[in-house]
Amino acid sequence: MTVGVHPLAGFDKLLHYRVPETMRSAVAVGSLVRVPVLNTMRLGIVGEIGAPRDFPLDKLKSIAQVVHPFPAFPPDLFGLARWMATYYACGLDSIIESMLPAAVRHGAVVKQEKLLTVVRRLTPDELAVLTKRAPQQARLYTFLAQQFRPQPKSLVLARLEQTAAVAAALVKRGVLGEEARRVERVAYADDFAHGELVASQPHAPNAEQAAAVAALDASLAAGRFEVSLLHGITGSGKTEVYLRAVDTALKAGGGVIFLVPEVALTPQTVARLRSRLEAIAPGHRCVVWHSHLSEGERFDGWLALATGEARVVVGARSAIFAPVANLRLIVVDEEHEPAYKQDETPRYHGRDVAVYRAKLAGAVCLLGSATPSLESFANAQAGKYRLLELRERVDARKLPHIDIVDLRIEAMRQRGLTALSRKLVDAMQARFERREQTILFINRRGYSTSMLCTKCGHVEECAHCSIALTYHRADETLRCHLCGGQKAAPARCPKCGAPDIRWKGLGTQRVEEAVRRVLPRARIERMDTDAMAKKNRFREVLSQFRAGKIDVLVGTQMIGKGLDFPNVTLVGLIDADISMHIPDFRANERTFQLLVQVAGRAGRGDTAGEVIVQTFNPQAEAIQFSRHADYAGFSAAELKIRRDFRYPPFRHLIHHLFRGPNPEKLKFFAEQWAKLVEKELGSRVELRGPSASPIEKIKDEYRWQLWYFTNSVTKVVPDLVRLRAGFAWPDDITQVFDVDPMNLV
Ligand SMILES: [Zn+2]
Ligand SMILES: [Zn+2]
Repeated sequence: MTVGVHPLAGFDKLLHYRVPETMRSAVAVGSLVRVPVLNTMRLGIVGEIGAPRDFPLDKLKSIAQVVHPFPAFPPDLFGLARWMATYYACGLDSIIESMLPAAVRHGAVVKQEKLLTVVRRLTPDELAVLTKRAPQQARLYTFLAQQFRPQPKSLVLARLEQTAAVAAALVKRGVLGEEARRVERVAYADDFAHGELVASQPHAPNAEQAAAVAALDASLAAGRFEVSLLHGITGSGKTEVYLRAVDTALKAGGGVIFLVPEVALTPQTVARLRSRLEAIAPGHRCVVWHSHLSEGERFDGWLALATGEARVVVGARSAIFAPVANLRLIVVDEEHEPAYKQDETPRYHGRDVAVYRAKLAGAVCLLGSATPSLESFANAQAGKYRLLELRERVDARKLPHIDIVDLRIEAMRQRGLTALSRKLVDAMQARFERREQTILFINRRGYSTSMLCTKCGHVEECAHCSIALTYHRADETLRCHLCGGQKAAPARCPKCGAPDIRWKGLGTQRVEEAVRRVLPRARIERMDTDAMAKKNRFREVLSQFRAGKIDVLVGTQMIGKGLDFPNVTLVGLIDADISMHIPDFRANERTFQLLVQVAGRAGRGDTAGEVIVQTFNPQAEAIQFSRHADYAGFSAAELKIRRDFRYPPFRHLIHHLFRGPNPEKLKFFAEQWAKLVEKELGSRVELRGPSASPIEKIKDEYRWQLWYFTNSVTKVVPDLVRLRAGFAWPDDITQVFDVDPMNLV
């Protein structure tokens, strides 16, 4: 028997090996094996059973070890890896590697722990005697006798403050039993023990929820590939629909992958899933999967899924590669989130990969959002996805009232710019007196690179590309980093003539200081990546906020996502403009999504909420449509612009980045390359650029870029890869493709 193996790390081809007699029964496609490559041992995945075409069989080396007695890679992952390699223009090895958790690649092992359990119950008389003669032993016995299942020895002894000798005495008397068992390192176990998180109680679905559930049940019963887009306004109970679909899939014996955009959001989602799973299907385990886990936790979760002990995984982007067998359902919550796109190789989009994996597995893919991405919405409109809608909030609660504050007027009134408008200050003070809570959001993106007139709100845009121009300090120019067009940076606003048109935006710290000045007695907490660098700080602050120990929470978007805070009645957005003027054709979409999601945080409890949005451009469509969370209106207007400019979703975009130490050389080769592509693929690809990247230089390396617009990625990428391989690149220039990039900045 011979097999073809994909070695991990650095070998992008199949190598063939002989399988020794003793290992034959354990080897299948997807097995993780250890094989000799050159003079080292490497891990690899068995990709095919069979012999090489052009290599003498007697010269083949043998597999050294089969690491696990089950396939580490389900067959559908292979198909997925091949598709990803083609679509995202990267090596199969880098994809296979990213599909396996590091812990598995490093050969992590199973952890053993001793468990204690009562094996002989004492009679009341015996217990009375024991209590008198050995009170410590009696305490340990009584504690364990109340437990339903065996307890970890070290934990129990630590909690009761007893020594191992106490347990040993009871074991010796045959009262307690000690057993060694594989122990799961369960992530977030502590949260559940302390009841910090809100468990979701199943409630009767309203008519819209019931209709969505029925549609999904029918899809799941049909057992074939289908994508549904669940568009539900904030507070409409999307989670309940997800959970019911998960129920259905599990009851039919299937496996489920549940994706959430950010790690920070996971504890609450996991808690909800767990509590529901335990209620409906006792014994079901929910594996948590994301990059912040310890290697041990990751390995145990992976093992539980690969062996079929667990059938549900919830996690961030990379959970889409979990070895879930008999996959029936993939849920992608907040499918519009850019966090699903990985910004290092392989540069895949978790949502798009989810759709493709569902296709390969013949499963149902459920995408959910209050503000679907225009890509998904266009697919629904074209009939490729089934559209499920939830238009009512659960319990018919009202959407919060949204107030727009015009910062141009505010700047005139207050004689200069301040972080907090009069209206926002008054509203915050009123909340503080009523003991209600406030969240202030700050929009954090690289703003200093574009120009905004604080007098009239004007931002210079590229006439050809309809995106904000980027300000380059070095030569005082404004440039378009899509088409490369440039002009001298104006000293005065081209629209109103105001002299100062550079505004840098505000950091979280400055906003926090401003809040302290107007609310000196309030308890204020800041939450951004700097303040949250310490592990667990994020969850600590959230739990304090939930407990009402914080009056005002100041932070970036990260605080808002999917979290329910019933006592928050005011949400302020300090600077709506920043996301609107990032030099990206998705700027309006981002702004609309941000506003609607942020507004959804206010008034989730019994009290009505208020939202105050500060902006220099109150008339902008993204802001006007968001006032009534008018997704239909917004998407129609925005899709029209996208169609006019032939931007995604009407075409695909591919980014090509060039890096090198010598700027002239870099420019020369980027231009030569662009000429070649134009000549060879010009009929299928529209090129823009090459031009200097918005950030021209990082760590002594210059950066240039080129954009390709195309109708079909799969028809263009293989040709680009082929041309690139045949092009005479100098050694000091490196370059990367990014297919369907989510951020143009
Ligand atoms: Zn102006
Ligand atoms: Zn342009």
